[in-house]
Amino acid sequence: MKKTAFAVLALFSILIAILFIRAAGFRSRQIAVDPIQPIVMDRERLAARRLSQAIQFKTISLQGSEDRGAQEFRRLHAFIDKSFLHVAQHLRKEVVGGYSLLYTWPGKDPQLKPALLMAHLDVVPVDAATESSWSEPPFSGRIAGGFVWGRGAMDDKASVMGLLEAVEYLLANGFQPQRTLYLAFGHDEEIGGRAGAAQIAALLRSRGIALEFVLDEGLNIFDGVIAGINAPAALVGIAEKGYLSLQLTTQSAGGHSSTPPADTAIGELSRALQRLDAHPFPARLSDPAREMFEFLGPEMAWSKKLVLANLWLFEPLLKKQLSRSPLTNALIRTTAAPTMIHAGVKENVLPSQATATINLRLAPGDTIAGAAARVRDVIGDPHVDVKLLPVQIEPSEVSDTRSPSFALLNRTIRQIAPQTLVAPALLVAATDSRHYQNLSKNIFRFLPITLRPDDVKRYHGVDERIAIEDYERCVRFYAQLIRNSQS
Ligand SMILES: [Zn+2]
Repeated sequence: MKKTAFAVLALFSILIAILFIRAAGFRSRQIAVDPIQPIVMDRERLAARRLSQAIQFKTISLQGSEDRGAQEFRRLHAFIDKSFLHVAQHLRKEVVGGYSLLYTWPGKDPQLKPALLMAHLDVVPVDAATESSWSEPPFSGRIAGGFVWGRGAMDDKASVMGLLEAVEYLLANGFQPQRTLYLAFGHDEEIGGRAGAAQIAALLRSRGIALEFVLDEGLNIFDGVIAGINAPAALVGIAEKGYLSLQLTTQSAGGHSSTPPADTAIGELSRALQRLDAHPFPARLSDPAREMFEFLGPEMAWSKKLVLANLWLFEPLLKKQLSRSPLTNALIRTTAAPTMIHAGVKENVLPSQATATINLRLAPGDTIAGAAARVRDVIGDPHVDVKLLPVQIEPSEVSDTRSPSFALLNRTIRQIAPQTLVAPALLVAATDSRHYQNLSKNIFRFLPITLRPDDVKRYHGVDERIAIEDYERCVRFYAQLIRNSQS
């Protein structure tokens, strides 16, 4: 008896020792960088003013070729031409797909693979019901309280204008790139990018171009948003989730509601929805999520470090914890959200058909076919028809954090925002960068805007804005990235 107790105690001590040794060996992945040659922004804040003007063009994604909004895109193009004279003089501009822009800045060394820096010109509309809740009119581009306000300030004109400002700055200072650089600005990112980014990618492919890396919008610098992390953290999207909507349909005879059959269309559909709700997709730490914890874990307090350094033991615990909040839950599984439901025309008539739409966001490692099959399995009812809706996007490839281009981004972020932690992560939304997947395996999604807890909802929401200081940092970030990317 005593012997067993002793053995248990010994094993337990060994286990504790292993946990602590691993936690102690969980070393910071944050790199040290050399200081940079300063990038002096204009004292008159002309850059912020130009961003403000760019916001005033209502470049809402065009829904048809006859769209009157097309004029706004043309006016924005003209504004860019006259604002960035060095860009106009030294870069080749091509208009693609009607309203998208592709700029080529030829490098001196043809041996180096070109890099592509991208953003999008279009914005989402402003919901009329929320327009009165804006602190400043959404297309005013007002500069007030240290911010530039308006639709597109974050998504994604800060990125378009920031890139142009950076290139203009470098040209004005006599910089000439070794590596050819492309700037690609799509005009329909918010509605899928088929007329814009997809066409630019096809054009580059037709020219036989392979890209060293691609940088798009995506994740940002999160300050006070990530539990357990006190410093601001720059999350670089190394992958993005896929997209699929499924339409579930049930049929029944219909007729008078005074004599309902056991199985009604609505009843059967409800049971299907309930089964889906009760059986979420399994939680899994995909590579991007795992790597995020490898980078952030060492920066956390001991108790959390102990868990994250010992995922061989604590992974189930971590997954349970992450499942609790919608934001972190989306990182660890394919999500399935019912978004639309239709049935019935009158209170005393049985509908002959009921439909529901489920929107899925596919985690890396899952597939469209696999996810649809699982949904059919979970429902387990041949009377429920499951149809895949047309917009279908597989999850992206995962970009390598050991690649020179991740190192380049990492270094640039640390140089521009020295107190900021850097970590790879998974983007749960979709970006235009997916259209470039055949052109590069190094695709990254990041823009250095600081998001505090109440800023996340400004994306596509009310009071979209960017701090002038943050915007100027975006410009410096792009300029430094281009300087750093020359070998
Ligand atoms: Zn965007």
